[in-house]
Amino acid sequence: MRGRVPVLIPVALDQTYDYLLPEGLQVAPGDFVLVPFGAQTRLGVVWDQLLGPQPDKPPKKMKAIVERLDVPALPELSRRFAEWISRYTLAPAGMVLRMMMGASSAFEPVKPRFGVAIADGSADPPRLTPARKRVLEVAADGLPRAKSALAAEAACSSGVIDGLIEAGLLVEVVIPERRYPVPRADHDENQFTEAQAEAVHHLRAAVDSQAYSVTLLDGVTGSGKTEVYFEAVARTLAVGRQAVIMLPEIALTSQFMNRFQRRFGAPPVEWHSALSGPERGRAWRAAATGEARVVVGARSALFLPYQYLGLIIVDEEHDPGFKQEDRVHYQARDMAVVRGSLGKIPVLLASATPSIETHVNARTGRYRHVVLPGRFSGVEMPEVSAIDLRRDPPERGKWLAAPLVTAVEETLAKGQQALLFLNRRGYAPLTLCRSCGHRLECPQCSAWLVEHRFRNRLNCHHCGFTLPLPEKCPKCGEPGQMVACGPGVERIAEEVAARFPEAKLALLSSDLIPGLAEMREVIRGIEAGEANLIIGTQIVAKGHNFPDLCLVGIVDGDLGLAQGADPRAGERTFQLLHQVTGRAGRASVQGRGLVQTYNPEHPVMEAIIRGDREMFLEREIRQRQMGVLPPFGRLAALIISARDARLAEQFAREVARRAPPAERIDVLGPAEAPIAIVRGRHRWRLLVRAPREIDLQAYLRAWVSFLPEAKGDLRLVVDVDPYSFL
Ligand code: ADP
Ligand code: ZN
Repeated sequence: MRGRVPVLIPVALDQTYDYLLPEGLQVAPGDFVLVPFGAQTRLGVVWDQLLGPQPDKPPKKMKAIVERLDVPALPELSRRFAEWISRYTLAPAGMVLRMMMGASSAFEPVKPRFGVAIADGSADPPRLTPARKRVLEVAADGLPRAKSALAAEAACSSGVIDGLIEAGLLVEVVIPERRYPVPRADHDENQFTEAQAEAVHHLRAAVDSQAYSVTLLDGVTGSGKTEVYFEAVARTLAVGRQAVIMLPEIALTSQFMNRFQRRFGAPPVEWHSALSGPERGRAWRAAATGEARVVVGARSALFLPYQYLGLIIVDEEHDPGFKQEDRVHYQARDMAVVRGSLGKIPVLLASATPSIETHVNARTGRYRHVVLPGRFSGVEMPEVSAIDLRRDPPERGKWLAAPLVTAVEETLAKGQQALLFLNRRGYAPLTLCRSCGHRLECPQCSAWLVEHRFRNRLNCHHCGFTLPLPEKCPKCGEPGQMVACGPGVERIAEEVAARFPEAKLALLSSDLIPGLAEMREVIRGIEAGEANLIIGTQIVAKGHNFPDLCLVGIVDGDLGLAQGADPRAGERTFQLLHQVTGRAGRASVQGRGLVQTYNPEHPVMEAIIRGDREMFLEREIRQRQMGVLPPFGRLAALIISARDARLAEQFAREVARRAPPAERIDVLGPAEAPIAIVRGRHRWRLLVRAPREIDLQAYLRAWVSFLPEAKGDLRLVVDVDPYSFL
């Protein structure tokens, strides 16, 4: 009898499909296979067992596997991890698989690259032109090269190369696929301070035990966390296993890569959205074969098919960028802990401002807690003080209060760098007509259009809608009456350029810098002192080391606290302001932080100003406990949306009505979402809250299974552990 094999296909379905195994073909779980699926042939993975509901299908109708691909299999641990994520997030298993196959070119045959090399035994070369001579001299080392590369190196045209091929002095060859250079554990070992050495000892011990553990590496910016966790990486390399270092995407700076290279003598394998398709394919395969020894990447680096993973590091573990908000909704830091537990390997979480969740886990002993007490340089943390905008308001139409202006002046006069932080892209968050009061809104979202003056356009930050800046009001037609309200970083740059015409400005905002390479270049320029006044959004908060930076001014300290429904608003504001002000004064002088606020008595603001993290933590943990909020409670959001407003509302009410009764589970809502319309879709939200001990997933699954089918364009999204409440 021919066998039947369950295959999981990377589409939004929560089940495997059975396929017949044709004569002569052997497959094992994890193998990538091509199978007929509907009218198409699709790539899938042979699974260990059936998943999901299985209709009884007579074998006659069953289709057969077409072929097995010659790529490394999806490891067993990756398969268990995919099942776990699917169970926890309620995302279909097929979608999780799709996420793990994040490189379609990994499954395409590698196209051989052709080049030329010197021919063997061309003993008696005829008389040569100087160009031909140069080519043969370059090629004399016997290495294969692309024709164009050889021509460039020998400074000749490709015709010369062709001539040499014809003459039999060069031959066409296949250029072997490049291999990743191997980082070495003992390339350049560091001298550590006593406190660092102690931390290194703990991390090495965690790696040496080759068992699951989670360690919080907790130390201020500049305390040497990176240097210290590199030693855990070194230990992992020494025992022949792989390591992954996860960073918030934007922190993948050249500086980090350079430091890695210095320590290990070779760069890590990078994994992030800026890679080309073939680079992704190569990295994916290298993770599966073990060739990639250390991967450094954004959150999705966690899902590569590591064969020998021995260590996971999540740097800046508190960063909200680790939460993915589309397709599969997951929190990568939490999933890293899960992957560590499944793989029985150590996980390190590093941060200067750990999340409340991680703090609580460290306090209860679930995680180990390793502390680096001060900065490596010995320089004190910056002195932070408030500028009370009620007392010192900026002039009309300006955004910097007098004390901040003076401080910037002093800093620049001393030849030092200053940074002004405002977490808002663009020129102004709102444009209105002075004559009729009309506000420019996105036609498809309930959101204002943001002016981007450098591009002379208005943009919607929710859907990407864009429009040239209108001359006259689209409503009343009055010309020259449109005014910008409120500041964005571009407007701060304008004010600063007028106030400090001599300053060398750098504006760091993701929308103004096209890609990772350009970002690295801008940051390198700042590090080299090519700018002395930096204006930036949150991308300045992360992972950079600006040695001459002595003053950080927060233009609007209250901005993040206004997010009413978000239980993490206080935490996030504390982290962001602490991280940004912590950029000041790293190298040799103590820095200063100035926070402009209308609310200096707010507990978060007070904790920032006093530099009192414990005070903030105590209060925040108490509040979470009382509110049964994470990590003491579990949250899930249900988001209902449709193009038709009534349909969305009706369905949201229906969903709420069908919530299974449960004693200790609260269902809040439905309520119209704070951003009620996005891309023309009307949105309603429900929030589910349960104590930690409750199996929230079982409850949600039961609930969703009782719901009527979401017909037409109605959509229901389940977001377990939501980070966005908009
Ligand atoms: P963190 O990750 O905590 O912000 P880093 O590891 O980036 O800290 O260290 C901050 C700076 O201090 C870096 O420039 C780093 O090279 C330097 N540094 C930290 N520890 C050492 C050490 N033991 N020896 C030499 N330089 C160190
Ligand atoms: Zn929009």
